[in-house]
Order: sequence, then C-alpha cells, then structure tokens
Amino acid sequence: MRDRLFSIIYKYNLHPNKNLGQNFLIVPDIIERNVERAELSEKDIVLEIGPGLGVLTDELAKKAGKVYAIEKDRRIIEILRKEYSWPNVKLIEGDAVKVEWPRFDKIVSNLPYQISSPVTFKLLKHEFERAVLIYQLEFAERMVAKPGDRNYSRLSLMVQAKANVELVERIGKGAFWPKPKVDSAVVIIEPKPEGERIELNENLVKALFQHRRSTVVSALKKSAHMIGVDKKTIKSYLSSLPHAEKRVFQLSPEDVLDIEAYLEENDLLSKKW
Ligand code: SAM
Repeated sequence: MRDRLFSIIYKYNLHPNKNLGQNFLIVPDIIERNVERAELSEKDIVLEIGPGLGVLTDELAKKAGKVYAIEKDRRIIEILRKEYSWPNVKLIEGDAVKVEWPRFDKIVSNLPYQISSPVTFKLLKHEFERAVLIYQLEFAERMVAKPGDRNYSRLSLMVQAKANVELVERIGKGAFWPKPKVDSAVVIIEPKPEGERIELNENLVKALFQHRRSTVVSALKKSAHMIGVDKKTIKSYLSSLPHAEKRVFQLSPEDVLDIEAYLEENDLLSKKW
C-alpha cells in the first residue's frame, strides 16, 4: 500500500497542498484498524471526507456496499479516476463543508484538520450509525473532555449533547507523509438514542462559552448583548437562575438545558435570539 502510494506520488509529481491538509496515511495497520472499527458490511453506505490518494477508500470499497468520497482537490480526483476502477465508489468533487452530503450510515475518514470543526457540527445534524474519524490530537481531546476538565469547551458540550464519543487510539506524526506538525487521534462517535439527545440553543451556548472560566451569572451578564437582552433586564432574573454559581466550563449539556428552560420561561430567549 505504501509502495503504491509513493509510486502514484512520483508518477504524477504530486506536491501535497498544506492548505488542504494533505498528510497521507502510510501505515496500513491504522487503516485496517479503522475499517474494522467501522464494522462494515455489504449493507453499509459509507461517507469518506477527503479520500486523498485512495488508501483508505480502497479498503472501504472492499467491505461496504457503497462508498461516497468527497474531495476538494481536482488534481486528486483526476488521479483517483485514472488509478482505480472501483465499481461501488462515487467520487464527489467539492468542499465537504459546503456540498450536500448523500445519505450514509457510517463515516470513516482521515480528516483535513482545517475543517474538523465545521465537519463535526455538520455531521451531528445527520442521522448515522457510527463515525470513525482521525482528528488532530488536541481537537480529539477537546471532543471527549468532561465537564470541569481543563479543555472542556463548547465543542465538548455540543458533541456530547447528541453523541457518545471515545478517543480510541493516539497516532504519532510518523504515520503520515508528509509528517504533520502535531499528533493525531482516532475518535469513534455514535449518536445517542433519540430520546437521550439534547438539542441546545447554539446561541446560548456560544454566549456562555465566550466566558468559559466565569460563573454562569457573570458570563450571562457579560454576554447579554449576544443574546439580545439588555444587562439590566437580565440582571433582575439572574438570582433564581439554575446553576448560577457554577463556572461555565463545569456545565453539562443537561445543566445548559436547565438554564435554557429558565430563560425561555421568563421570555428572555425565544423572540430575541
Ligand atoms: N484519506 C487520505 C489518507 O488518509 O491518506 C487523505 C487524507 S488528507 C489528511 C485530507 C484530504 O482531504 C486531502 O486529500 C485533501 O485534499 C482533502 N480535503 C481538504 N479540504 C477538503 C474539503 N474542504 N472538502 C473535501 N476534501 C478536502
């Protein structure tokens, strides 16, 4: 696999584009483990973001019924069309953040790190069974951080409101060519059962996490402008606010839901946001 990858690179004199996060996986074991983690069968429709030179796509195509691969770099699309003749892979040329995704039940990708955040938020708006994704390590750690952790953030809260997430493997820089500057990690995301998913008001979460180390009361005072309420109005309601004295980075999705419900009851949310 490694030989094939480098022979393609030399044949087409391909210079990886840093701006597109082109760091290709060169360790077959990692690819194998991720394909296994996806538990693929003929029934599965898999989405891959950024197939690159096809090393992962090739393995996905062997196991799944159908693979959709979205790639932004036209040079790469042309190379893939020349080098492979997969009967069950549909290449989609475009920006994965912007194009509409086809229906899929699994997603397996070595993500371009520049778009980790928008891709993750977009993913959470879809119905799917399982995601096996390689992220930059620091981003992966934020995704799985628990309330009160040093790196618990808006991302941790929004992801965990809807899904169970697990960091299952750390990957060193040497597993990629060219070597990236940072380590990576594999994360498995599985949506929670429908009744357990929490839909949060994204504006409220943003307003709170603007001041993640402040208490909830103080964060809401400081972010009053972001929620379209004047400071005076909000101040008069804050004494009975749930979780008022917790720090923002200690809030679980359930806590934020309590805060949201209280603000809604007092008419401080629905119309103005
Ligand atoms: N899957 C390959 C591998 O593991 O070797 C390549 C992974 S490489 C980290 C990321 C790939 O995503 C590159 O092929 C890059 O061109 C592509 N890419 C970057 N930005 C993209 C975007 N916005 N939409 C779709 N593909 C993108």
